[in-house]
Amino acid sequence: MMNEHTMFRPPAEVNSLIIRVADGCPWNKCTFCGMYKNVKYRPFSFDEIKRSVANAAKYNSGIRRIFLADGDVMSLSFDKLSEILKLLNSTFQKLSRVNIYANGNSILK
Ligand code: SF4
Repeated sequence: MMNEHTMFRPPAEVNSLIIRVADGCPWNKCTFCGMYKNVKYRPFSFDEIKRSVANAAKYNSGIRRIFLADGDVMSLSFDKLSEILKLLNSTFQKLSRVNIYANGNSILK
């Protein structure tokens, strides 16, 4: 079950559908960032994400942009990110862009 806490997204994602794939941030140590300081990190299972996507698709089938939350989604494994992107691509026929927050260390890995 997802925790209830404030969700953040970049201003440029104002028109994007936000789909959470985790609670919090796995790094949570950036001194300038308090977004998820009080949130225990937990990546969601693929089944949880599939349920969220199916539910979101009922009301947003024509969406073109998606933002995956919460923090540093790039820290997920390549296989999991790939599965999520394939699921989004097959669910939302007009999807043209998926964006995430990414920590520099996760990008380098
Ligand atoms: S990686 Fe992003 S979400 Fe995590 S603590 Fe740093 S700025 Fe905040």
